[in-house]
Amino acid sequence: PTETGLKPADSRKVEEEDYRFDQLPEYRRLKRTMLQFEMTGVPNPYFSVHEGIVRDTTRIAGRELISFSSYNYLGMSGDPEVTQAVIEAVQEYGSSVSASRLVSGEKKLHRELEDGIAEWIGTDASIVMVGGHATNETTIGQIVGPGDLIIHDSLSHNSIVQGAMLSGARRRPFPHNDWQALESILAEVRASYRRILVVIEGVYSMDGDYPELPKFIEVKNRYKSWLMVDEAHSIGTMGPTGRGIAEHFGVDARGVDIWMGTLSKSFGSCGGYIAGCAELIELLKYTAPGFVFSVGLSPSNTAAALASLKTLKAHPERVQTLRSRAQLFLNEAKKRGLNTGDSHDTPVIPVITGNSLHALLLSRKMFEAGVNVQPILYPAVEESAARLRFFITSTHTEEQIRYTVEKAAEALEEIHPAYFA
Ligand code: PMP
Repeated sequence: PTETGLKPADSRKVEEEDYRFDQLPEYRRLKRTMLQFEMTGVPNPYFSVHEGIVRDTTRIAGRELISFSSYNYLGMSGDPEVTQAVIEAVQEYGSSVSASRLVSGEKKLHRELEDGIAEWIGTDASIVMVGGHATNETTIGQIVGPGDLIIHDSLSHNSIVQGAMLSGARRRPFPHNDWQALESILAEVRASYRRILVVIEGVYSMDGDYPELPKFIEVKNRYKSWLMVDEAHSIGTMGPTGRGIAEHFGVDARGVDIWMGTLSKSFGSCGGYIAGCAELIELLKYTAPGFVFSVGLSPSNTAAALASLKTLKAHPERVQTLRSRAQLFLNEAKKRGLNTGDSHDTPVIPVITGNSLHALLLSRKMFEAGVNVQPILYPAVEESAARLRFFITSTHTEEQIRYTVEKAAEALEEIHPAYFA
């Protein structure tokens, strides 16, 4: 018996891999992946320390590099006006709102940001939460449940899948961007479920392609389902003035039931939003666990997003610049025979190498040539789809883009001459 008088459990029955972190199968798997780096002689590409603000360039270990590894799409992080707004907000409100907004964390700034986002997108209302990932998880987790169905694009972001699992609803992926496949699923199962939530993204974060939004709206209307669009990578980047994928297609934002976006990319901040009809937003404000039981968005993050929104409204030409830089990258890459998959002139452009080793080596060679860009390796994508992912921003110059594509083509030629065969 122990000191408490309780009989100890028969510890022989508990395997080490079930209570020792160093023996967990997932930890051992991770260590094997790390070995991959050592074996190829390429330093671990993750968690490199960036000094200063990352825009068109970054500094790593004192070395200035052209950067394509951050989604500061419109250069809002580091923008002098945005920085000034943050300083003023912290002086006025401190560094934290120190409570859930429901209780005592509500600030005028929150209201201004939420009204501003809703008005700009063209919905009744919006709500901001402390993380983009958490926004998806808690919103999806809250509005559907057992007896309901979530149908999402097969390339959906992790936060959507996690939200679906949290909800307890059934989950069915449909083939990427295939609205006809979605329609077949709906036709087959609509009657078997209470609520059906269809989730797609405005721009897909690995491939840089986007869905035919009007078709998805038509389909979801036919089957009395909800459509949720995650605009993490499309808000501020799509449509002539950056209002996102609805503006790109010229459709009324009210045709989509739930707009989701992050504040971490075009808005130079941290957090997420949901925009939609007044009832949806009111419901989330009083019931979404990730909002109700979490601190309100910090004054600095709120002010940064608000100032970015104002700057974007005043300077829509930043969106045009971004699009033309993306177009330039794509044209140059195609001219040189690089495989950019199905990407369009969105701010995400992959260069698919065909395997993880080549992606790693290419990323290393780019680094040596003065360009920072992340490799995306298996299991984040299929092994044959391993790639470098370039995030284009409005702050990149044409010279930086031409230089980068040229270096990528040269490096690939060295690594794998058959690539261009
Ligand atoms: N949705 C998508 C499509 C994303 O790519 C991301 C992350 N980049 C998120 C949600 C989560 O957003 P955040 O990083 O702002 O938490």
